[in-house]
Amino acid sequence: MSNPNPLIAALESNLQQVDRQALRRRRRVAETPCAPRVQVDGREMLAFCSNDYLGLASHPRLVEALREGASLYGVGSGASHLISGHTRAHALLEERLAQFMSPQVEAAGALYFCTGYMANLAVLTALATPGAEIFSEALNHASIIDGARLSRAKVQVYPHADLESLANLLAASSAPTKIVVTDSVFSMDGDLAALPALLALCERHGAWLVVDDAHGFGVLGENGRGALEHFNLRSTNLVYMGTLSKAAGVGGAFVAAHASVIEWLVQRARPYIYTTAAAPALAHALLASLDIIGGAEGRQRRAHLQSLIAQIRSGLRLRRWQLMPSDTAIQPVIVGANDDAMLAAAALFAQGLWVPAIRPPTVPPDTARLRVTLSAAHTKEEVAQVVAALNALEIQEAEKAA
Ligand SMILES: *Cc1c(COP(=O)(O)O)cnc(C)c1O
Repeated sequence: MSNPNPLIAALESNLQQVDRQALRRRRRVAETPCAPRVQVDGREMLAFCSNDYLGLASHPRLVEALREGASLYGVGSGASHLISGHTRAHALLEERLAQFMSPQVEAAGALYFCTGYMANLAVLTALATPGAEIFSEALNHASIIDGARLSRAKVQVYPHADLESLANLLAASSAPTKIVVTDSVFSMDGDLAALPALLALCERHGAWLVVDDAHGFGVLGENGRGALEHFNLRSTNLVYMGTLSKAAGVGGAFVAAHASVIEWLVQRARPYIYTTAAAPALAHALLASLDIIGGAEGRQRRAHLQSLIAQIRSGLRLRRWQLMPSDTAIQPVIVGANDDAMLAAAALFAQGLWVPAIRPPTVPPDTARLRVTLSAAHTKEEVAQVVAALNALEIQEAEKAA
């Protein structure tokens, strides 16, 4: 029976179509803090799904810092940054971020955003002055795609990791402002963009290079300054976006760039201007997070994470499924068909292992995958457990297919 309201009936029919494609998504309810051991929908699980790469999301020092921030500043900012919501906590955080990123960004300024999604919308809409052209990597995050659309600039999508195509597009463009934008670590594949070559190309063509380092900030580089530190890059053509919701364990994001870029964003970026400032207590907690990331504990956590990455890569013995070539905490196993990926994720879940299946449209058709993400909070024993389970499951699948 379809709903008597045709508006509802049309949506319900669309939802049935989603079901027929095995694409219905459902949200599981986590009942404990983000950590390897979680209770989800009432069950104890070992999780390999979060972006909490350093295991800071439930770190006691950050929990305490958030409490302290609430005592100092209350729980809401009350207004946007340009009205009255810009507190001492926000100002201190921006100062610290600019200082932290200064080896990578000349005359660095930093701007704190409520989310990375909004930071990408802000950068692309504000940099794309009339006549601008945006050159966007094929595997870029949805927030970059949306930001490019919202900018109303002409958008050219270049194929994944294809710098020759990008060079040709840049050479053919006569736009007064050229903006190349890329993820540093591709979020569904785990591979790294060739940032040194991209930057050289951008400098040659007088283009901005906007780098979305959502999965690199805090994780890559000796001091956790991310992909730019990893590649030892520094340039005034760079506009750097780092999220503070993933490795930093809290929430929000920042842009680091030449102080004049930051000032332009404050004047023009609508996703910055027309929204209430994030809770100041979050900014206060992030100061403690930056202390950890930049200090000895951060280095230890990054070293442990690297050893877990090496462990999973040497431990998996796959024949039909395919482990993507990734050196980062994102270790995707391509299964192929949507329903096969769903069945594999369900079989793991039944064993107490929470590994998400990623399906189109998030990834290309026929590349549905199990996306294992590792965290410094995992132990060697926990990683050994997921490796053994994946190896055994794949053998079962191979035998079923034979
Ligand atoms: C997570 C993510 C974002 C969005 O950041 P949020 O702070 O979660 O809004 C942007 N870009 C990439 C590549 C991401 O993975």
